Amino acid sequence: MSQLKHVAIAGATGAVGVEMLKCLEQRDFPVGKLSLLASARSVGKTMTFRGEEIPVQELTPESFKGVDIALFSAGGGISKEFAPHAVACNAVVIDNSSAFRMEPEVPLVVPEVNGADVKGHAGIIANPNCTTIITLMGLNPLHQAFGGVQRIIASSYQAVSGSGAQGIIELEAQNKALALGEPIPERKVYPHQIASNVIPHVDVFLDNGYTKEEMKMHFEGRKILHAPNLVASVTCVRVPVYRSHAVAVTAEFTNPPSVEAARLAITSAPGVHVVDDVTAQPAKYPTPLDVTNGDDCLVGRIRRDLVFAERGLTFWVVGDQIRKGAALNAVQIGELL
Ligand code: NAP
Repeated sequence: MSQLKHVAIAGATGAVGVEMLKCLEQRDFPVGKLSLLASARSVGKTMTFRGEEIPVQELTPESFKGVDIALFSAGGGISKEFAPHAVACNAVVIDNSSAFRMEPEVPLVVPEVNGADVKGHAGIIANPNCTTIITLMGLNPLHQAFGGVQRIIASSYQAVSGSGAQGIIELEAQNKALALGEPIPERKVYPHQIASNVIPHVDVFLDNGYTKEEMKMHFEGRKILHAPNLVASVTCVRVPVYRSHAVAVTAEFTNPPSVEAARLAITSAPGVHVVDDVTAQPAKYPTPLDVTNGDDCLVGRIRRDLVFAERGLTFWVVGDQIRKGAALNAVQIGELL
């Protein structure tokens, strides 16, 4: 029997979809046939895969006949509408949106953290929130090493490409206007000017004063780490960086951690490395530019936390949110299948 798969990407022309195509090619995923799906606006475009020009087709309920794996990356509404059609055609859906993440029968998977959870799927597997994936790549080795994480306090520094292609366009236009001394063009994506600014507002506000994005770390973190009592207090901040998210994390563990054991745990874990030498000239810690277009997350600034004292650590973790936070993680789930 052929091991080559018919793969479909719904949202192929978007920021994440384009990266999915790259990941499939770079990782030599066993693609026998590829269907590239987007809105009617993209019909007529082609995209290159392994040197071949493939036409983009309009996403319809009939798009999934014969498809083995359907990577969805066109927003939650599209996933809710079309993923059931893909499942009805016996495709396994790997969904990048938040549409199904908290459904009990849908595994929510970061392969390096809870890859075994894919086994329980009933046709749909969810890719977690990008900031949550990057945070857990740094946190999980410590969660394993120190008897479980109990509480975290985190602040994110999120790039504009996290808002898709339109976020990049808005920052570019504002940067250009500032450089030329022209008025800032009308905003479409962010509630305030993002160029030369930071905005403590990612996603919509909820009744408890947190945003939906902030609560994703709390709820998705519990599900992925199998830690039902984990409590996360998060502040998500949009920063004028084009690509890759950073997160400052303070975590309290069941057992007293040490900085040395934390470094060893992270160094031994797949997909994440330590870059941490504040005595070097210049000091070494990872920045968004260090991870952009790369697969792995980087951790630095590891130190004993002064507030959580003997059971706390504080660290800084950075990852390319379009790759590990979305496209790469989805393709890795496909590899597990
Ligand atoms: P994007 O750049 O805005 O791309 C959206 C994609 O969806 C495009 O391919 C678009 O096709 C397609 N689409 C929109 N409306 C459609 C319709 N009615 N029918 C079919 N296709 C339609 O967005 P993105 O950043 O790639 O995000 C895609 C998804 O991934 C979202 O659910 C997002 O939350 C999630 N995600 C994004 C990131 C990130 O860092 N960007 C990280 C993690 C998860 P057209 O080009 O034809 O309009």
